[in-house]
Amino acid sequence: MEVETMIHAGVVGIAGRMGSLLAQGIIDAEDMVLAGALEAKGHPVLGKDAGTIVGRDLQGVGISCVFEEAFASCDVIIDFTMPAVTVETARYAQEESKHLIIGTTGFDEEQLLMIRDCAGKVPVVMAPNMSIGVNVMFKVAAILTELLGKDYDVEIIEAHHRLKKDAPSGTALGLAISIAEAKGVELAKNACYERHGIIGARPDGEIGIQTLRAGDIVGDHTVLYAGNNERIELKHQAHSRQNFARGALRAVRWLKGREPGLYSMIDVLGL
Ligand code: NAD
Repeated sequence: MEVETMIHAGVVGIAGRMGSLLAQGIIDAEDMVLAGALEAKGHPVLGKDAGTIVGRDLQGVGISCVFEEAFASCDVIIDFTMPAVTVETARYAQEESKHLIIGTTGFDEEQLLMIRDCAGKVPVVMAPNMSIGVNVMFKVAAILTELLGKDYDVEIIEAHHRLKKDAPSGTALGLAISIAEAKGVELAKNACYERHGIIGARPDGEIGIQTLRAGDIVGDHTVLYAGNNERIELKHQAHSRQNFARGALRAVRWLKGREPGLYSMIDVLGL
């Protein structure tokens, strides 16, 4: 493929767990070029080549801490970092008309508003989990919730590695939103994020969201539906982060030529 027709993609947080996998995926893809890389001010990789720091050949792309320098020649920017950084990326993408893929989780309401504003001007795919399996699970969880009805208690249990910053995971919250919609209830009024002490009987309609943090667990999510005398468990386990990176690159391809808007992986996968 001619370099001009290839997708020029940039990565924010290229030295991170996800950033380095995304950069490798872009370099290895036949239809993409790694055209930019950003890291935090003072990071030891600044000024180094984006290819060599992720274990690939020299790409001729220096890692910068300045958006304008890093992403001038990019069509699309991929950001899996942290909310405060991603909001800055969205601001830049909006000003410079760059397509945007957001994998970061843990946004507050104000930050989400800013991202929605950005998506009014440029196409954005944002998903708390870019794996195909998890997005299918969102759909299946909604269907199971509807089919089982109010006699079944619903608990979401998630487990991640000890370094994860936000809790519960964005994926667990995504599942909770799907389930609350399927139940026809407001999540804020029915969610229970922790239990401790003399808590009494479980309120009807409660949606439990429980968090485990341990070792190097990549990401486990279980939805437990428990009725009288039986239960169903819907479980997803990520074996590696490759899955998320592959989903993000699928979103990059899907976004090409789209109108401005805030899209999800459900849109990307046509679910
Ligand atoms: P990480 O800590 O390994 O990587 C974050 C990177 O961002 C680091 O390299 C850090 O130096 C960099 N960074 C910090 N400040 C910066 C700045 N100002 N400019 C540029 N870069 C900066 O984290 P991770 O495990 O890769 O996860 C990152 C995010 O992605 C988290 O929010 C996580 O929950 C989310 N995540 C999402 C998915 C998904 O499928 N959507 C999958 C995995 C992780």
